[in-house]
Amino acid sequence: MVSRVIPVDPFDLIIFGGTGDLARLKILPGLFRRFASGQMPPEARVIGAARSEMDSAGYREMIHASICEFLPEKQRREGDLGKFLERLEYVRVDATGTDGWADLKTLVRSEVTKAYYFSVGPSLFGAIAERLHGNGIAGPKCRMVVEKPFGHDLGSAQALNETLARFFDEAQIYRIDHYLGKETVQNLMAVRFGNVLFEPLWNAQFIDHVQITVAETVSVGGRGAYYDKSGAMRDMIQNHLMQLLCLTAMEPPSKFDPDAVRDEKLKVIRALDPVPAENIVRGQYAAGDGVASYREHAENPESRTESFIAMKLHIANWRWNGTPFYLRTGKCLKNRLSEIVVRFKEPPHSIFEADAGRNANELAIRLQPNEGMDLNVTIKEPGPGGMRLMEVPLDMTFADALGASGDAVPDAYERLVMDVIRGDQTLFMRGDEVEAAWAWTDPIIEGWTARGDAPKLYEPGSVGPEEALMLMHRDGRRWRDLKA
Ligand code: NAP
Repeated sequence: MVSRVIPVDPFDLIIFGGTGDLARLKILPGLFRRFASGQMPPEARVIGAARSEMDSAGYREMIHASICEFLPEKQRREGDLGKFLERLEYVRVDATGTDGWADLKTLVRSEVTKAYYFSVGPSLFGAIAERLHGNGIAGPKCRMVVEKPFGHDLGSAQALNETLARFFDEAQIYRIDHYLGKETVQNLMAVRFGNVLFEPLWNAQFIDHVQITVAETVSVGGRGAYYDKSGAMRDMIQNHLMQLLCLTAMEPPSKFDPDAVRDEKLKVIRALDPVPAENIVRGQYAAGDGVASYREHAENPESRTESFIAMKLHIANWRWNGTPFYLRTGKCLKNRLSEIVVRFKEPPHSIFEADAGRNANELAIRLQPNEGMDLNVTIKEPGPGGMRLMEVPLDMTFADALGASGDAVPDAYERLVMDVIRGDQTLFMRGDEVEAAWAWTDPIIEGWTARGDAPKLYEPGSVGPEEALMLMHRDGRRWRDLKA
C-alpha cells in the first residue's frame, strides 16, 4: 500500500532547545523522515536556537550525527539526508537575555508559516514568549508548541496558561502529549467512530471494564533526582494515561474537529469521581536484578515518591455507570508495553453445556511495541470431542496490515509537528483540559501526602506490587499479562 503524502505549505520551524535531547533524538530525526517521504516542502527550514556557541555548519554536523545514531540505516538515504541538512540553520539565543534575538528576527521569514517549538524547561516558557512578542516575530498566525510537563499542580498549570495567554491566543498554542500522536491512539477513534460494530456496545451495558497499562522496563536512572519531585501520578497518569482514558471513554464528537474532540475529552475528566484510598496502589522498586533501588537512584533514602501506580476509577455519567477503568503504570517492570484493553461482558445466556466454557470478547489496542489491535472472539475448539469454546485473536498489527515494515507508521513526534504546521490542534491538549486534569489529580496526591502513605516495594522485573494484582482480584478480574 502506498501511503498518501499530504504536502504542507513552506514553513520556518524554530526550535528553542534545538541542541537538547528531545530535539536531537525525536524532533529532528522525525522531521527528516517527513522530508524523505516528500511531505516537507523543499523551501521549509528548521532553525535550532540555544545558547551553545556554534554556527549553522556545526549544527548540521550535530544533527547529522544524531540522525545517524537514532535512525536505522535503511531509513536514511544519504542524498535525502544531505538535502535535509541544507534546510537547517542555527542561531545563538539566550532565552532569558537579549543575546541573539535580533539575529533570529533577521533569519525568520515573514511570508511563511512560523512555528516556535519550546523544547526547553517550562521555567523558560514565559521568557521566550515575552521576547518573541517584544521582538515582533510572533504575530497572530504563528504557532507555539509547548512540551510537557505542563505544570506540576493546578496552580502552576494555571500560571503557565496565564503567561502564554498574555502573548498568544489559545488557537496558537499546541500543548504536546506525544501519546496522542501515536497511530494506534488515532486508530482508536477510527475504530470507535468509523464502524457501526463497536459504538453500540461501547458502554456499561456491554463492557465489563477497561484496563489501561503503560509499563516501562527502564528505571528512573540518572533522572532520579528530577523524577523524585514528580512520581508516576504526575509524570504519567495526569497526562498520558488521562488522555488515553478520555479517548476511550468520550462521547462521539459531532465532527473530527479540534474543539469538538477536546470538548468531549474535557467532559470525561470533569466526570471522574474522586478516588478513595483503597482504590489506589502506589509502588516503589526495591534493589534487585542488578538494578539499584529507586531511593538510591533518587538519592533520597526517605523518598515516598511512587515509581508505580495502579488505580481504579469511575466515570460518573450514564454511559459508564458501573464500569470501572483500571489504570497502571510503572518503571522497572517485566516488559515494555502500552495498551488499552476493553473487556466486554459475557453473553447474558449460554446455549452451550456448562463445561463448554464461557468467554468474553476483548479488544486490545497496543501502543507499543508493535502498534496494532487485536480482538479476541469466541469460536469452537477445532476437532472432535463435542462443543467446547475457545478464544482466538483477530490480530491487526499495523505494520503487517499496511504491507510494510514498521517504517510506514509515523513516529508520534513527526506526526504532531506536521499537524502544527497544518494548523490542526485536534491532537493537542487545550488549556482547560490540562487544568481539569490537575484539578482531579491534586486532591489525590494531597490525600496520600496527608495520610503519610508509603509506597509498597516491588522487585525490578516484576509486574509491580502484589497489592496491584489484588486491586483487580478482589473484583473478580485480572490484569492482562505484561507480555512483550
Ligand atoms: P535538555 O537536553 O536539557 O535540553 C535543553 C535545551 O534548552 C538545550 O538545547 C539547551 O541548550 C537549551 N537551553 C537551556 N537554557 C537555555 C536558555 N537560557 N536559552 C536558550 N536555550 C536554552 O532537555 P530536553 O530533554 O531536550 O527536554 C526539553 C523539554 O522537553 C523539557 O521541558 C522536557 O521536560 C521536555 N521533554 C523531553 C523529553 C525527552 O525525551 N528528552 C520527552 C518529553 C518532554 P544550551 O544549553 O545550548 O542553551
